[in-house]
Amino acid sequence: MQHIDHFDPATATVAPTAGHDGQRDTVDAKQKREFNKLQKRLRREVGNAIIDYQMINEGDRIMVCLSGGKDSYTMLEILRNLQRNAPVNFSLVAVNMDQKQPGFPEHVLPRYLDGLGVEYHILERDTYSVVKEKTPEGKTTCALCSRLRRGSLYGFAEEIGANKIALGHHREDILETMFLNMFFGGTLKAMPPKLLSDDGKNIVIRPLAYCKEADIAEFSRLMEFPIIPCNLCGSQPNMQRQIVKEMLAEWDKKYPGRLESMFKAVTNVAPSQLADRDLFDFAGLEAKQAELMSGRIQAFNVS
Ligand code: SF4
Repeated sequence: MQHIDHFDPATATVAPTAGHDGQRDTVDAKQKREFNKLQKRLRREVGNAIIDYQMINEGDRIMVCLSGGKDSYTMLEILRNLQRNAPVNFSLVAVNMDQKQPGFPEHVLPRYLDGLGVEYHILERDTYSVVKEKTPEGKTTCALCSRLRRGSLYGFAEEIGANKIALGHHREDILETMFLNMFFGGTLKAMPPKLLSDDGKNIVIRPLAYCKEADIAEFSRLMEFPIIPCNLCGSQPNMQRQIVKEMLAEWDKKYPGRLESMFKAVTNVAPSQLADRDLFDFAGLEAKQAELMSGRIQAFNVS
């Protein structure tokens, strides 16, 4: 009897078996089927996001930022699969940043990546000391930490000749960011699936943009990724983000379909129905009206 203790996407297929312990086999087969469905869904969503936003082109060298969390492991796994099946050739290079947090398990990622045979780099930058020094006591450190990490990774992409940087943000990250920006930033913006960095040097892609966090968490659990927690620094997670996350999770439970609709809204903006004068020419409405009316009068005269 074969037990499922680890799911290898290369070999995981539906293969119900009838052994001595028939009941156990049925459970295993069911688990395997569920895993296959989940994996297919994630692959499909990543593939769709890549196509919709033209994230990957022939010859791209993509730096996959690997934090050691569930999202980035999942992203790497799905991108590796796509790489094998995509009609375009592209290369992947995984990069993890060792921020010199006390207790960071340095061996975990190299061991995992060596096992996969993926090209990778560990970038050592002591941002931990900078963050500790610059953040006032009692304040959350995550914003500065992420900014420093982003800066270092963007610079490193150039060094290793990567023309794209893949980040593991998913659908909920995008929605949370939209609410945080509305609540505290007075702006209607989220996280785009594809972005040109401010200095114009890097194109950032978010292949997991269409994926649900719960699917990623489940996939990560079944794949038994060697997760490295992101609070080695002893920092509290960003409290406001946590509150918004809980709000979304509650809505998702109480009102199924609401998150899907909200995410669709992010992809379906009507500038004329908002109030941003830079996005829509409200002052020009009279001129537009006059143009429309004269067009109608002309059409009327011709007919
Ligand atoms: S939890 Fe710690 S390591 Fe993670 S982003 Fe926040 S400050 Fe950085």
